[in-house]
Amino acid sequence: MEACNAVEREVDKVLSKFGGINEHAERVLQDITGNIESLKKELESAPQEHELTPAQVVILRQAMNKIREAVQRLATDHRDLHSTVSKVGKAIDRNFVSDFASTSREDVFSGTDKVQLLNQVICQHFYRQGMLDIADELAQEAGLKMEEGGKEPFSELNRILDSLKQRDLGPALEWAQSHRESLDAQNSSLEFKLHRLQFIDLIQRGPAGQADAIQYARTHFQQFVHRHEKEIQNLMGMFLYLPHGINSSPYSHLLDPNLWVEIYDVFTRDACSLLGLSVDSPLSVCINAGCTALPALLNIKQVMQQRQVTGIWNGKDELPIEIDLGQESRYHSVFACPILRQQSTESNPPMRLICGHVISRDALNKLSNGNKLKCPYCPVEQNPLDARLIYF
Ligand SMILES: [Zn+2]
Repeated sequence: MEACNAVEREVDKVLSKFGGINEHAERVLQDITGNIESLKKELESAPQEHELTPAQVVILRQAMNKIREAVQRLATDHRDLHSTVSKVGKAIDRNFVSDFASTSREDVFSGTDKVQLLNQVICQHFYRQGMLDIADELAQEAGLKMEEGGKEPFSELNRILDSLKQRDLGPALEWAQSHRESLDAQNSSLEFKLHRLQFIDLIQRGPAGQADAIQYARTHFQQFVHRHEKEIQNLMGMFLYLPHGINSSPYSHLLDPNLWVEIYDVFTRDACSLLGLSVDSPLSVCINAGCTALPALLNIKQVMQQRQVTGIWNGKDELPIEIDLGQESRYHSVFACPILRQQSTESNPPMRLICGHVISRDALNKLSNGNKLKCPYCPVEQNPLDARLIYF
């Protein structure tokens, strides 16, 4: 923000200078053209064969000099303006670090395969956001096959989410019913929560909705009694307060509009996990992670350049420093070898010793002596060949 303000100050300077010069130039040019016009008129009104008197020659010469000077002054003003404009560029360079070159690797996106993959991820992101026309266009221009873009699941999800936004539970209920078994298998309460909202909607209509609400509860809540007994009892309690209004009853929390926000999230989460999709768009997760990590990476880059150790960054899967992106961005457990204090990689995976302690393969190789290995922790003696590779 500070950087934006600094640049804006420079831009303001340019704009006010622009205005000033514009006004001044207009006035000067008007003066000059007026001058020329009147001279022209005088010349035209002179009788034929008239020769200029020395005084007239002086007047003409003076006029020409004045014009030349004025034009020169305008040109100088214009040059000044250029330097002010270029100051904006310098302010941008000074305030925004644009050299991200050393924080990324050039080979990451080179090659047709990788470009295709990138297009696919961008395309999926658009489908996910419901921007179907943009995604279709991109898929066509990038030559993606339809199944690569993964259009189908997203267009259905978006349609349902749109109706949920408009408080229409129909499409979501239909979807939940047709996927009931799989939803049950993942212990989802989506269908119950949808029915609950529908029931609350009926009961909110006051005594007039009572019969419908009772009917709805009889038809739909039976199947959920084994898992949601307490909640259903709560819902039934609402009937007691129907004549006096539920707003002033102990059940008023059930009318909270936040329940609609919740159902939106529950649907997205459960449907995505059922379809094997991540809840957040992988593209936005990556970009957010990158933006969060960038300042720290740029700092460490500077330090590394000062100490002339830039080379150690290149070609490694690991960053030179640890960057914490917060709880939300943790997806996989990582194993750091307690001996070498390095994160495990594919070429240096974690190995489980027979005593149960885990160290990295490099550490195992360093510690073993022929077919003997003493666990650095317990210390049980064993054969290094008995160690088993473990996967996270
Ligand atoms: Zn051990």
